[in-house]
Amino acid sequence: MTEAQAVSEANRCLGCVEAPCVKNCPAGVNVPEFIRRIATADFSGAYDSVFRNNPAGFICGKTCPAGKLCRSECNCGKLGGTVRISELQSFAVGKALEEGNLPRGEKTESNGMHVAVVGNGLFGIVCAYLLYEKGYSAVLLEASECPGKDALRYVPDDKPEKELFLREIELLLNGVEVRTGIQTAEDVPDLSRFDAFVSGEEDMPEWVSAAPGERMIRAESRAGDAPVFEVAAAKDAADRVDAFLKG
Ligand code: SF4
Repeated sequence: MTEAQAVSEANRCLGCVEAPCVKNCPAGVNVPEFIRRIATADFSGAYDSVFRNNPAGFICGKTCPAGKLCRSECNCGKLGGTVRISELQSFAVGKALEEGNLPRGEKTESNGMHVAVVGNGLFGIVCAYLLYEKGYSAVLLEASECPGKDALRYVPDDKPEKELFLREIELLLNGVEVRTGIQTAEDVPDLSRFDAFVSGEEDMPEWVSAAPGERMIRAESRAGDAPVFEVAAAKDAADRVDAFLKG
């Protein structure tokens, strides 16, 4: 999609007040807002708008089952064709990643609390980033040796967008401590330091139970196997950790 094509497609959006595309987005992206920005060629503003609700907007835009979600009830469908919402999203975020024009959410001042995010994948990366943004010292504890390895399954090696997705991961992990190769409690000598553990899996790894206290928070089960559902679960988990530790 070129800039001119993106602006043209964005100008098809009706800017609905009761926008079904927002209601149907698991990540809660403000679709009419970011599309309005593209319509006026404010591409970095569009990225900023997407990022506020979905920190992994590029990979989600590339892989979103949009026909079942945001596009399913798009009012433009009554006029002949729904708006290409997910393509506009990945266009705006991809452009920002390509150009290095990357505004990020403001980090809240450190609250002195430590949260361990257990597990690989986009869930862990986004959850750790959101906790960092909320002021926690977020530590991603991964069994594998490669941060985000599981998340990479969404983008095969031969896809040109892989490089941009790796940049998106790198951006999110900037500020998060990442430890890899975590297999046993001995691999985490400061286990008792963490105020909470959060995992995207139903079962925490056995070694986490070596940590004292009831501080385990699991993600709600996901509605589907696509990155956008991992982002939605990560947002929910980060909010619940925040409520648990501050409640
Ligand atoms: S439903 Fe379609 S036309 Fe309405 S705001 Fe969303 S994308 Fe635009």
